[in-house]
Amino acid sequence: MARVAFIGLGNMGGGMAANLAKAGNDVRAFDLSEAALAAAKTAGCLPVADAAAAVDGAEAIVTMLPAGRHVEQVYVDAVFPTASPSAVLIDCSTIDVATARALAEQAAAKGLLAVDAPVSGGIAAAAGGTLTFMVGGSDQAFDRARAFLEAMGKAVIHAGASGAGQVAKMCNNMILAATMTVTCEAFAMAEKLGLDPQVFYDISSKATGQSWSMTSYCPVPGVGPESPADRDYQGGFAAALMLKDLRLAMAAAEQAGASVPTGRRAAELYEAFVESGKGGDDFSGIIRALKAGELG
Ligand code: NAD
Repeated sequence: MARVAFIGLGNMGGGMAANLAKAGNDVRAFDLSEAALAAAKTAGCLPVADAAAAVDGAEAIVTMLPAGRHVEQVYVDAVFPTASPSAVLIDCSTIDVATARALAEQAAAKGLLAVDAPVSGGIAAAAGGTLTFMVGGSDQAFDRARAFLEAMGKAVIHAGASGAGQVAKMCNNMILAATMTVTCEAFAMAEKLGLDPQVFYDISSKATGQSWSMTSYCPVPGVGPESPADRDYQGGFAAALMLKDLRLAMAAAEQAGASVPTGRRAAELYEAFVESGKGGDDFSGIIRALKAGELG
């Protein structure tokens, strides 16, 4: 039984911590929210009073926090001063590449192994232990983190050096945003031109327009496998979270001098969609705004 610290027991972290406990680990859990702590207790974790109490004596320190500034604060205030020298730091949050790399450098300076390990998959995958982890860090850090990640996911992929996990995550989600928006546009346009959506799906899903956005997550209700479109665009991947990832991607692109005009346009579209009050809708719900001509 390994001692694991888990900090950030929200929508994602709650399920992930539960799976680490289910796998036989002694999980010391901390969150600012009392409700999240109570849920973690029910799931077999031991709630503790603060982040340092979770970190003290842990072999693995997992964080699942909203953004880079939260991870930085927890690392500086609790993890760096308290972590055992043999601990491995595993940040599963989606954060900016610059902060991920800076924190990995600070960890290395203190002799601590660290990985960035953002996830693909939503709340259901977190609860079901079927996340995909994209991991950045040294071979040694990856080897130490792997068993803990495997208890929470179905795939654990070493992407490269520190920050590479975050790079993979934001590049992937930039593709997802662009394919989703253009798939929505195509369905809306086909319908306006008199083509039945099911017929268009039958053709395009077997032709060169096929993508995950079309055949696994079709934005049109009643077409393709069941998706958030069939639930009034609720309960999937919220547009606000997609916008967060796109903003991280745009910042990273600017820093790297990468040309991303299509990704930028997708970011602008999600910005407008979220600003119109639809941030809680699934990101495929942007088809309704496109059909209504609200996004240009
Ligand atoms: P969430 O807001 O539900 O959970 C974050 C938790 O962190 C909250 O419970 C909050 O109280 C806690 N927290 C914040 N600051 C803290 C601190 N200083 N100490 C302890 N706890 C603190 O967010 P989430 O949906 O679980 O997402 C977490 C991360 O995973 C984000 O980076 C998000 O982008 C990423 N992600 C989310 C999804 C998704 O579908 N929700 C999918 C993939 C990746």
